[in-house]
Amino acid sequence: MSEQTLPTTGRAWHLEARPVGWPTPLEFALREVSIAAPGPGQILVANEFLSVDPYMRGRMSDKKSYIEPYEVGEPLDGPAVGRVLASNAEGFAVGDHVMHALGWRDYAVLDAATAQKVDQNLAPLSAYLGVLGLPGLTAYIGLTRFAQVQQGDTVFVSGAAGAVGSMAGQIAKLQGAARVIGSAGSDDKVKLLVEEYGYDAAFNYKNGPVAEQLAQAAPDGIDVFFDNVGGEHLEAAIGALKLHARIVLSGMVSQYNDEKVVGPRNLWNLSVTRSKILAFMFNEELDLQPDFIREVGGWAATGKLQFRETVFDGLDNTLDAFLAMMRGENVGKMVVRL
Ligand code: NAP
Repeated sequence: MSEQTLPTTGRAWHLEARPVGWPTPLEFALREVSIAAPGPGQILVANEFLSVDPYMRGRMSDKKSYIEPYEVGEPLDGPAVGRVLASNAEGFAVGDHVMHALGWRDYAVLDAATAQKVDQNLAPLSAYLGVLGLPGLTAYIGLTRFAQVQQGDTVFVSGAAGAVGSMAGQIAKLQGAARVIGSAGSDDKVKLLVEEYGYDAAFNYKNGPVAEQLAQAAPDGIDVFFDNVGGEHLEAAIGALKLHARIVLSGMVSQYNDEKVVGPRNLWNLSVTRSKILAFMFNEELDLQPDFIREVGGWAATGKLQFRETVFDGLDNTLDAFLAMMRGENVGKMVVRL
């Protein structure tokens, strides 16, 4: 694209008001924005894939968190992959593909230092938002650094058919777990866990109490719980711990829209079993990224890791994609294709 045909306007999703409980379209607006020419050290990117993630729900509130809230009246942001349309930065050429943090919009002008080049010959572009991106990395960090999966472990993963969860179960198995159990919110997802992702057992948490279904799937208890969900799942897992077990808190998606938070009532079982609860945020563990790219990238390239995506088309459908993901309508990573 020549300089003359560079876009001068684009569209970006804005937060209009802070949602209470489940977000509704009333709290968001897709507005026209002007696009400046890239300044020194900057690039102009046409986004091709946008990520919608559960943590974004937290940023729509202004409660104390590990990350700054979105500002009311300002554009939302998040992971995206796009093509460089214009570059004023050394090392970035027109046509390069980059991953960056200015999603929820069609065009982005950003400091090239905050972007990472990606190669679509190595993996499809959307994979850099899923298996090779933040969700895959989160699963890898949680299991490698925190759960420290041992040969023979029984591992339980909640949210097991989602972007992080589907990676966590498979990676645990590749790291030597003897038995991997997953929970998800539909019978179709449960089937997928066992038939495609290699889970040894799986259950639909909507079909009955989690504690009862977990006891059936893991009669001898669990060594590791990789938790994406919190609430009832966390209490059930604490009740099923073996001696010296590890619970890794990846997230608590069951509570992100719920003003009333359900806490586990059986924490004493951590003492009884001398177990640990470990929490982490992927962005503080980025030293593991080279190992992640080598190991997980290798498994993905050789077909040892299966990954799926749910794709919504068009910037207009970004909010719908986000809400659908929060409702569980995704299998694997939810992305928006522009
Ligand atoms: P995802 O699992 O692909 O999508 C969200 C899923 O949450 C939905 O598909 C839905 O699946 C499930 N869900 C929604 N409401 C639920 C409820 N009430 N109870 C149980 N499950 C519910 O999302 P993701 O990107 O992979 O994120 C998964 C978790 O990882 C989130 O908690 C996120 O915050 C966390 N995370 C943590 C880090 C970190 O650094 N610690 C980084 C990234 C993500 P069902 O159909 O199974 O209900």
